[in-house]
Amino acid sequence: MPIRELPPQLVNEIAAGEVVERPASVVKELVENAIDAGASRISVSLFGGGIERIEVADDGVGIPFGELPLALAPHATSKIRESEDLGRIRTLGFRGEAIASIAAVSRFRLRSRPREQTEAGEIEVQAGTASPPRPAAGPLGTLVVVEQLFLNTPARRKFLKSPAAETARAAEVVRSLAIARPELAIRLEIDGRTSLDLPAGGEMRRRVVEVLGRETEGNLLEVDATEGGVRVAGFVGRPEIAKGSGRSTRIVLNGRAIHDRLILHAIREGFRGCLPGDRHPVAVLHLGIDPEQVDVNVHPAKTEVRFRNGPLVHAAVRHAVRAAILAAEGTPTLETFPATGRRGESPVQPSTAPLRFGGDGPGGRLLSLPPRGETRGFDYGAAAAAIASADPPAAAEAVPRAVLQAGGTFLVAADEDGLLIVDKHALHERLEFERLRQRIAEGPLERQALLSPLLVEVGGAGVEAFESLAPLLSRIGLEAAPAGSQRIAIAAVPSLFASRRVDAAAFLREVLDGAVAAAAASDEESLLESILSMMACKASVRAGESLSGVEAASLLDRAAEVDLAGRCPHGRPTMLRLPWSDLRRRFGRS
Ligand code: ADP
Ligand code: MG
Repeated sequence: MPIRELPPQLVNEIAAGEVVERPASVVKELVENAIDAGASRISVSLFGGGIERIEVADDGVGIPFGELPLALAPHATSKIRESEDLGRIRTLGFRGEAIASIAAVSRFRLRSRPREQTEAGEIEVQAGTASPPRPAAGPLGTLVVVEQLFLNTPARRKFLKSPAAETARAAEVVRSLAIARPELAIRLEIDGRTSLDLPAGGEMRRRVVEVLGRETEGNLLEVDATEGGVRVAGFVGRPEIAKGSGRSTRIVLNGRAIHDRLILHAIREGFRGCLPGDRHPVAVLHLGIDPEQVDVNVHPAKTEVRFRNGPLVHAAVRHAVRAAILAAEGTPTLETFPATGRRGESPVQPSTAPLRFGGDGPGGRLLSLPPRGETRGFDYGAAAAAIASADPPAAAEAVPRAVLQAGGTFLVAADEDGLLIVDKHALHERLEFERLRQRIAEGPLERQALLSPLLVEVGGAGVEAFESLAPLLSRIGLEAAPAGSQRIAIAAVPSLFASRRVDAAAFLREVLDGAVAAAAASDEESLLESILSMMACKASVRAGESLSGVEAASLLDRAAEVDLAGRCPHGRPTMLRLPWSDLRRRFGRS
């Protein structure tokens, strides 16, 4: 075929392929236009999944009658003028493409009335041909109606999902924008029914609850910090309300809802130690950054951005989230049983089974512990007397030094507030992690040289991952070098590994596996943290491993001094508490 210049309609259809993927993308472009027009109320109606019809109405500045044809023209925009403007974009749109693209693949109508006009103007596009603008009756602002999306591009239409699925995606876009602009009144109607009706107001907490759901109410921790010129404000949900999907993690950058792996990763890092690996944090974060520090012109839908200084943004987000969580969880008071459980609802059920003490089944063994700071035996007499007097504070004073090792996995102890049930491994892991983290800030960890190098088969990808991780591994005391293209030779291991009999080869393989996955979004500090957390896990007491009284006591003493001691580095609880008040109630003593 000879080379030909394509007719404008075809050019627009091709451009539409980038911008207009489905009804949700149309909704996004139209609502963004309304926001850019300074609207204070925006309403969206969808019919038949938005494939039949989408209407977006706003009360923004409108388009002057004479400019209506231009609004439909490709590469026509009122938002930028010159190349330099691309480096300092403050509007949501700037490409001047959306309207032309949408109109090229639908039946399109736009009616608009700016303040200076007494009448509105209307323009229509049918099969790629625009009508001349004509006067019409209409309120201030703009109404866009898009019907029969992809009517002339059947290939596109085939990729659409069911109307219900398309509706869900479009509604999702409206919710994102509602979160990005809490000051706007936003309505969404689906097939004639109101699905969302958010009043103007601008209170971010209220908007977050309205959009993410009532269950977040009372569980939102405020985030507000500025670091390196990056303001991070908004809310994170307590770890308990983390979700099974990522839909409740929302990122807004200078008023634009975006998807960004770097920031998602930073949020997770902020939650480190509080979130099981398969849960997604609830978080709504608004980032404020000098527009010159971000490039928003990297993606046709403008949902992805590029930061000039990614690590700086990562650190600002990570620290802001961390600070919010630590502020709320500063005490090592742990997952608690519901303090006011109604009869029959408490997770601790009355035991109906006969008690069987002694033997070495899953029963337990009372350890005699040294009192704090000393190594005397536990004073059973005093404890028994205190318990008999049924005065909880006195009992607590006597009891904390008594620990029962039970069920292989658990320690049972008591403090002033109640009984504690401790997962030995989880708690030890948490404490080791914190210790390693503090220790490594002072310099490389102690290591022990091996008599002969330990060869580990890791594969080509493993050797590659190793090359970039070698300096980090050396900081934790693991000295190694590639031996050929598939293997690594370990020359020295962290001393901790020697004393805790950790399999260094298995550890290295695990680190390298994880590193391949994490490399994309990680900075050095968070990689180091994940390596330390793996180390802590491997070097901690196993569930079935028996502790001496001194070991158990020091474990509990250390727990009192560490941030987030109530959770292991993977976010599982390390202890559960049964408050004295619950116990008293269950035994019928009020
Ligand atoms: P962009 O938003 O990138 O400028 P669009 O194709 O989305 O490109 O819109 C083209 C132009 O039409 C905008 O620059 C703006 O001037 C005008 N426009 C579109 N929608 C509206 C609206 N709802 N209110 C006022 N002006 C609008
Ligand atoms: Mg636009």
